[in-house]
This record gives sequence, structure tokens and C-alpha cells, in this order.
Amino acid sequence: MINFQYSRATDVADAVRQIAADPTAKFIAGGTNLIDLMKDDVERPSRLIDISRLPLNTVEVDPDGGLRIGALVPNSDLAYHPLVETRYPLLASAILAGASQQLRNMASTGGNLLQRTRCAYFYDTTTPCNKRVPGSGCSAINGLNRGHAILGASDSCIATHPSDMCVALAALGATVHVTGPEAQRTIAFADFHRLPDSTPQRDTNLRPNEIVTAVSLPAQRFTTNYSYLKIRDRLSYAFALVSIAAALELEGNTIKDARLALGGVAHKPWRDGDVEAALRGKPATRTTFTNAADLLLLDAKGLEHNTFKIELARRGIVRTLTQAANGTPQTQSNKKIQ
Ligand SMILES: Cc1cc2nc3c(=O)[nH]c(=O)nc-3n(C[C@H](O)[C@H](O)[C@H](O)COP(=O)(O)OP(=O)(O)OC[C@H]3O[C@@H](n4cnc5c(N)ncnc54)[C@H](O)[C@@H]3O)c2cc1C
Ligand code: SF4
Repeated sequence: MINFQYSRATDVADAVRQIAADPTAKFIAGGTNLIDLMKDDVERPSRLIDISRLPLNTVEVDPDGGLRIGALVPNSDLAYHPLVETRYPLLASAILAGASQQLRNMASTGGNLLQRTRCAYFYDTTTPCNKRVPGSGCSAINGLNRGHAILGASDSCIATHPSDMCVALAALGATVHVTGPEAQRTIAFADFHRLPDSTPQRDTNLRPNEIVTAVSLPAQRFTTNYSYLKIRDRLSYAFALVSIAAALELEGNTIKDARLALGGVAHKPWRDGDVEAALRGKPATRTTFTNAADLLLLDAKGLEHNTFKIELARRGIVRTLTQAANGTPQTQSNKKIQ
């Protein structure tokens, strides 16, 4: 039994004040990840600051035509929100590929960003893990690493970020809004999650005293040519081995703009600007998509059990871009692509 205090934040300023006063406290939103971590003795917060009743649960159109999503909007509400279904269907698809209906009802937008890795050693307190106990070693590098990173890993940690929603947010160029004791600031989604380097205990660039208040999306929505493909060991209720969010803007058969982000392959949702640039101006063909996949995976590195993920990602990228080009999200149709 872990002893901890419980308090409820009355507003955002109060939440920030409370967390600043106690460096070992944790915010709790839906609790779907944090409570599991506490039960497994991975997280031992001295205090839970309940933020679930803060007024951060609305989805609103912002003045420049984008969308502002409150940090406490539940994953289900977000996926089925009419503005998301019609304007950002890629995001709706990605959210619905994650977890289960019950979990999505509880899980919050902010909590989804901050959920921790599913590396089994991270949850097993009898094994060394640099993310859980810095400097103790990484059990996965020479252990069971079938689900681990093929891009951006380090000698300290090869864990992956498990979120589906975040892969779509990365592809759509989201911005994270945070509030700290001194100020509010925004963080580009690409800079929110970190690569492990030598400090894998830090998943994100959120500062210890800051709270996520919202996530915003730009006006550009990719409503026609998009697809989210999640490849996993079973069809539902499983984390991704590899997932791919693809979105294209086409002029005839020419790619005007492209977005491509991968999940399950790195410590953060993986988006590569060079690959997107290489897609622009090219015809939407299998050759173009195969070249994009090869470029994205140029530096991919497999370990004993996860090398298969490189080929899986390569094929997944081609298939997802093909689905996006065809306007056939989540299907296997590739009739129109030569
Ligand atoms: C069995 C199972 C299967 C799952 N499958 C998937 C899946 O396939 N795909 C997927 O994407 N996800 C999956 N999930 C993860 C689930 O989506 C996350 O647990 C959920 O999104 C976390 O949200 P929460 O509100 O419950 O977070 P909490 O558990 O309340 O918090 C998680 C972390 O975020 C911090 N936090 C929460 N809100 C804020 C905030 N506003 N500002 C700062 N810090 C904050 C907390 O302090 C804590 O550290 C699964 C979870 C379970 C249990
Ligand atoms: S991969 Fe990362 S999370 Fe997993 S055991 Fe190694 S250090 Fe820990």
C-alpha cells in the first residue's frame, strides 16, 4: 500500500500552485495510466492533485479557423466530436484505434500525451530500467525487445511512445498549450516528446511545475486523402507494433502537400520533414511511396527481436500512403494507384 495525499485543484492556477509546492506530487486526470503505475509500484507520488474537474473539457474553433481541444476532453468525446469527425478525420481514426471504449471514455487528451511507455521492464520493478531508476541499466537492449524502437533509440533506452492519438497530432502539426507558475507557453508537437538520449527518465519537455491546458490544431485538415493504419498483434485492445498516420493534398495525381508520422517505432511520434518534402511535387504512385518509406527508414536499426519492424514499417508506409491517395482510409483497396 502506497500512502499518498489527495487534493482537488480548484482552477488551473491552483493546480500549478499545488504541484509547485510538492515536487513529488502528480496530476491525475482519467487515471487510466497513473493508477496502474501506482499499483505496480512504478510511480510513488506523495500527493495526487485531481485536475479532472477543471474547466478544460471543451472543443472550440479558434479565431484562425483551427481547433482548440481542452486537456480534459475525453478521448471518446474527441473522436466523436462533430468538428473532429468532419474536419480532422485522421485524428478521429487514430483515437478510435487505441485502447477500448471504456478506457477512451476515461482517458483525457492531456493524459494521453503524457502516458508512459509500455516497455514490460519499465513495469517490472525487479529489473533494471534507466527510465524508472536512472543509471540502473536497460533490460530491454539485450532482453525481450520485440516491441521496441527502431528509430532514435539510445544506449540508455529503446522504449517506444505508445499513443495512437499523438501520431495523428504529430502529422497534423498540433501545438501543446501549457501553464506554469510564471507563465503560459506553447510547445510545437514535434518538440513536446523527447528522444531518450542519456536521460530516458524524461519523456517530454514539459517542466515539472507545468500543466497541459490544451492542444490546438491548425486550420489545414486533410479531410479527403488520409489514413491511419495500426499494425498490432491482435485486432483490438493492443498497442501498436507500428502505426502510420498519412495525409495528402493532391492536385490531380500530384502531391501538393504530405504528412507522415509513425507510432510504435521510437521514443516519440516520428515525423520526418525531409520525407514529407521529398513527397511534395511527386506523382502519387507506389514508386514514390516506396522511395519515401526507404528514406524514412534509412537510419532504422533493429535489435535481436525487433528487426522485423523495419520491413513492417516499410510496407505499412506504402500501404497507408496508398490508402490516403485513394481516399480509402483503413481499407486495403489500392485500385487507383499504378
Ligand atoms: C489496457 C490499456 C490499453 C491501452 N491501449 C492504448 C492504445 O492502444 N493506444 C493508446 O494511445 N493508448 C492506450 N492506452 C492508454 C490510454 O490512452 C492512456 O492511459 C490515457 O490516454 C491516459 O489518460 P488519463 O487521463 O487516464 O491519464 P492519467 O492516468 O490520469 O495520467 C497520465 C499521466 O499524465 C499526467 N497528466 C494527466 N493530465 C495532465 C495534464 N493536463 N497536464 C500535465 N500532466 C498531466 C499525469 O500526472 C500522469 O503522469 C491504454 C491504456 C490501458 C490501461
Ligand atoms: S527500454 Fe527504456 S523503459 Fe525499457 S527497460 Fe530499457 S530503459 Fe527501461
